[in-house]
Amino acid sequence: MSVKLFAAALAATTLISCAPSAPLTQAKTEPSALATQCEGRDGWSDPAPPVRIHGNSYYVGTCGIAVILIATPKGHILIDAATDEAVPSILANIRTLGFDPRDVKLIIGSHEHVDHMGGFAELKAATGAQLMVSSAARPSVETGRTDAADPQVGIIPDMKPVPVDGEIAFGAPMKSGSGSDIALTPHATPGHTSGGTSWTWRSCEGKKCITIAYVDSLSAVSSDDYKFSAHPERVAPFRSTFDRVRALPCDLLITPHPSFSDIFERLAGEMPLINPGACKTLADMMAARLDKRLASEAAK
Ligand SMILES: [Zn+2]
Repeated sequence: MSVKLFAAALAATTLISCAPSAPLTQAKTEPSALATQCEGRDGWSDPAPPVRIHGNSYYVGTCGIAVILIATPKGHILIDAATDEAVPSILANIRTLGFDPRDVKLIIGSHEHVDHMGGFAELKAATGAQLMVSSAARPSVETGRTDAADPQVGIIPDMKPVPVDGEIAFGAPMKSGSGSDIALTPHATPGHTSGGTSWTWRSCEGKKCITIAYVDSLSAVSSDDYKFSAHPERVAPFRSTFDRVRALPCDLLITPHPSFSDIFERLAGEMPLINPGACKTLADMMAARLDKRLASEAAK
């Protein structure tokens, strides 16, 4: 169903005589602009400049929350939406890069919390794109309410509800149509939420092709009275997720909270941008944090 919907969304694009292509005028924002303009600002809705990450992949999010634009000749893709309040700056960033928001044909995301999916309703309305989420994320996205089993229920605000057009099918790449060099693969990475999803795709800049991994939040955080040790049904998927993330193809890592992948510093040239060990390092670090959390719960 998901692949069909995606194909349909993109097929519709090809019927339009002026199908989206490379932007006519591409604003030149230095890759270091994210580090300099977001210095001391990391709010979920703090506007950030748009920056090309690699090839057809761009950062169009805020200082605190990543939103990724993947531009293809057959329609663009947005991963995540940040908050409702952030949407005007996301749309402005897309335009600044020379793209038309109406050429975004597919919106997908990381996990069902207001800081990443809160802007879905406004972004879908502004672009007319198809919205697809994992089956586990769907109830929260469509009702706007945090899942009752979520460790952070009660401390995460609700979000604007929005109807979903289709569900992600895990295990196979979503092809964006013939002739395109992007094969976007969803990976189920539950733990932080039940519907957490990570994404990998190939991005080419000239002859240099790499795999970008957008790895969902892996943090075991909760309300004060929640104990992970009392919820083995949440700890087990977390452990599988760490293993899955360790094994991802991962030349360049981006995380929904940009600081977890140091992406601003990497784009500014302060650290290597290409870092094939990054997914494993992140998974190891977050697994150690979960172990520490379980140990501290046991000690109480
Ligand atoms: Zn979250």
